[in-house]
Amino acid sequence: MKIDTRKIPDEGVTLVEEFSPAELDLDTEIFKLSGLVKVKAIISKSYDAIGVVLTLDAPMLSYCSRCLQEIGSRFNQQLELHYAVDKLEPVIDLDPDIREEIILSYPINPLCVVDCKGLCPKCGHNLNEGGCNCGST
Ligand SMILES: [Zn+2]
Ligand SMILES: [Zn+2]
Repeated sequence: MKIDTRKIPDEGVTLVEEFSPAELDLDTEIFKLSGLVKVKAIISKSYDAIGVVLTLDAPMLSYCSRCLQEIGSRFNQQLELHYAVDKLEPVIDLDPDIREEIILSYPINPLCVVDCKGLCPKCGHNLNEGGCNCGST
C-alpha cells in the first residue's frame, strides 16, 4: 500500500485495500496467511507529519507446536504508524512496515488447545485422540 502525501486532503482520508500475502513474502513453516489480507488505513495529516492507523485482517493458518495439527484462525491487528512528510519523497510505501508488523505478531508456540497432549515421542501417535500402547508396556 502506497500513500501519496500530496493527495491527502487536510481532513484526512480512509483507504481500504486487499492484497495477497504472497506479495509480502510472509509464509513460514509454522505460520501462513491463508487468504487475502484486508488493510484499512485511516490517514491523518498535519503540517509536517502523516499519521496512519492501520487495521490488518486475514485468515491465518498455523500449526500446533506440540501435535502439528493445523489451526485455522484470524490474524487481526491494529497499529499506528507515523511518517515525516518529505517533499522530495512524497510517496510513502507502507508495505515494509506492514510486513514487519505481521512478522512480529506471529504466534511463537501456537497450540491447538491449551492442554494439547502432543504426540507420543515413540510412535508419533496423536495423544489427543487417545493413548497409544507405548506407555503401558
Ligand atoms: Zn496440538
Ligand atoms: Zn506411542
